[in-house]
Amino acid sequence: MLDSIIVKAPAKINLTLDVLHKRNDGYHEVEMVMTTVDLADRVHLQPLNSRKIQVESNNGFLPTDKSNLAWQAARILQERYAPKTGVKIYIDKKIPVSAGLAGGSTDAAAVLRGLNKIWNLQLSTEALAEIGAEIGSDVPFCVHGGTAVARGRGEKLTFLPAPPPCWVVLAKPAQGVSTKDIYSRLNLETMKHPDTGRMVRAIEEKDFHTICLSLENVMEEATFSLNSDVKMIKDRLQQYGAEGAVMSGSGPTVFALASGQSRADRLCNGLKGFMEEVHVVRMIGTPHKPL
Ligand code: ATP
Repeated sequence: MLDSIIVKAPAKINLTLDVLHKRNDGYHEVEMVMTTVDLADRVHLQPLNSRKIQVESNNGFLPTDKSNLAWQAARILQERYAPKTGVKIYIDKKIPVSAGLAGGSTDAAAVLRGLNKIWNLQLSTEALAEIGAEIGSDVPFCVHGGTAVARGRGEKLTFLPAPPPCWVVLAKPAQGVSTKDIYSRLNLETMKHPDTGRMVRAIEEKDFHTICLSLENVMEEATFSLNSDVKMIKDRLQQYGAEGAVMSGSGPTVFALASGQSRADRLCNGLKGFMEEVHVVRMIGTPHKPL
């Protein structure tokens, strides 16, 4: 058994997000193109001799009990494959919380990958992703990383090549929006749906311009009506010269794509005058390397 490990847990963004219909089991059927960006938590895992699963973080707002998705990931692996061991999990949080960037899901995925290594469980990535689906719809994608179309409730993945290298400006307004409120405002019959096929083709052809034109999120309008800051940020990013901008997930983070760093820095500086949480990062888009 290895001593301890630090696993990088990158955020995801939605290049498209579509909601197709509500299923009989209560979940929504979605279709979304997701990719990873270089804004990442660091998840430190240290094996314990007792059965304890202990969570700590540098972010005081994060739950450290069993509601933390990282705790849940460790518990499942412990119960099924390693009943005699425990782990101390320290989450060095860099991804904004409740931001539409899958911060909790990526931490859970990092715990699955990291414990698979240090507890020597020898589970395949596919098996880890299946376990991840029990924790949350975005966890399977976060186990693999890379770029993919996610269907079902988010767990059915079709992998794509990485988009062309570019910069991502992430801007998170202070006030969040409840996902439940957004869903209650969606009219699935009348709304305009993203052209997922066009986004997929643009990624396959490494066509940055069409990727920017195809950025779309069916939840945007509903979120704009609940939090006008989200729309204002998107408008400003476009005014400052973003090649494309859209809200990620159920928000409230809005991101812009820029082909060059100087344009990305300009967008960031434009926003920094009136908001605190702005990050300029690179798009990653390739699957995680094995640990
Ligand atoms: P998604 O994009 O998957 O909808 P999100 O980025 O909007 O997720 P998270 O940062 O994952 O949101 O946080 C959502 C909720 O999950 C918060 O209420 C938070 O307290 C809880 N949570 C549980 N575990 C974690 C974790 N490890 N990191 C962040 N949030 C967590």
